[in-house]
Amino acid sequence: MAKTSWAEPFKIKMVEHLRMTTRDERTRAIAEAGYNTFLLKSEDVYIDLLTDSGTSAMSDRQWAGLMLGDEAYAGSVNFYHFEDAVRRFYGYKHLIPTHQGRGAEHILSKICIKPGDFIPGNMYFTTTRAHQELSGARFVDVIIDAAHDPANEQPFKGNVDLAKLQNLIDRVGAKKIPYLCLQCNVNMAGGQPVSMKNIRETRELCRKHGIRIFLDATRAVENAYFIKLREPGYGSKSIAEILLEICSYTDGCTCSAKKDSLVNIGGWLSINDDDLAEQARSLVVLYEGLHTYGGLAGRDMEAIAIGIGESVQFDHIRARIGQVEYLGHKLQAAGVPIVKPIGGHGIFVDAATFLPHIPREQFPAQALAAALYVDSGVRAMERGAVSAGRNPDTGQNIFPKLELIRLTIPRRVYTQAHMDVTAESVIDLRDNAASIKGLKFIYEPKYLRFFQARFEPVA
Ligand SMILES: *Cc1c(COP(=O)(O)O)cnc(C)c1O
Repeated sequence: MAKTSWAEPFKIKMVEHLRMTTRDERTRAIAEAGYNTFLLKSEDVYIDLLTDSGTSAMSDRQWAGLMLGDEAYAGSVNFYHFEDAVRRFYGYKHLIPTHQGRGAEHILSKICIKPGDFIPGNMYFTTTRAHQELSGARFVDVIIDAAHDPANEQPFKGNVDLAKLQNLIDRVGAKKIPYLCLQCNVNMAGGQPVSMKNIRETRELCRKHGIRIFLDATRAVENAYFIKLREPGYGSKSIAEILLEICSYTDGCTCSAKKDSLVNIGGWLSINDDDLAEQARSLVVLYEGLHTYGGLAGRDMEAIAIGIGESVQFDHIRARIGQVEYLGHKLQAAGVPIVKPIGGHGIFVDAATFLPHIPREQFPAQALAAALYVDSGVRAMERGAVSAGRNPDTGQNIFPKLELIRLTIPRRVYTQAHMDVTAESVIDLRDNAASIKGLKFIYEPKYLRFFQARFEPVA
């Protein structure tokens, strides 16, 4: 008989206690945090679904790897393990370690972008776009329209719209486009994958015009899993083979090791071109550290090297995404509006549909994340207008089509019972949605405002 159930390919060796809080304590805590879940103290949180970034549980092997840290300033043995792992599983020639993904984005933007350039991408990511703009470029979204529609069930909603890309090339000229930023398992679209066919076609178009492609490989392993499941011809290929093929169509990558690679800190920049890699190495010493540690301890690099190998195991990635689907199916069964199809790293609840009485100017997703915390101590994150920021020309708020909260599942951390509690709380809130109030800014930072903004309820 074919077995359809799965269980985690690990057992638990150590536990971390959680503090339980009362509703009164949580009501006080969220007010003190300016109704921004980023400003809550983690000890006040019960189930922390803020992000899957750096929140994974490391394996016993990774912990053992920490003890093998070679903390030499230059040429640490762990750097070479890290370099081997990236070469073997991602296939790129040069590895430049960075403290996390945005360190790599910073360096790539600095060496490739001139003021007045355009960077097309399949939807923006917050830190990625911010670095492109700081270097003087304008980000242009070339993702397919379906990505902006939470009800569209297309299997590869992360795909690049080739007509939009061609249009941009015709409008501004290829010389003003130093590279295309190709994101795997598009985060802001709900963790939606790109198909291999689309990557190949995007490669062809870019090659014709001499435009490089840099992959945001942060979630490329999750993307590889969806390709295996959904794309004809890939069912019998391993995750590692698919990952290598994805990378083979690109000129390098920026990557946050805090996601797929199962560590708490780290990232890297990979580049195939020798000259460009030299330029990146000359900058990494300024901003991150020597090119053989890039802001990481030797032990961190060892944990990443081991984590990369674990991340491409089929049983691991199936259980990781299986847990996300478990929560998603529970919410769907109860009629909660979520982004479909269920993505790789979290469940995205459509807050605009959930809270129709709150106008977009009063940030329904921000309000829903705050209300969820008060209800159950579950911490989610806003992914809507607050995250999107303001238009750099007009200074007006950007209201993206998607106004979401993200329930992000850390890897190997929570049990299905935690998912049950989370689902129950979201469903209860849906049944009492009318009592949730909108929010207004009382403090708005200039950059990446969602991290530190403060709000109060609209009277
Ligand atoms: C997290 C993330 C980044 C940034 O990485 P950090 O390690 O947080 O700096 C970039 N792109 C995507 C898709 C991400 O999910």
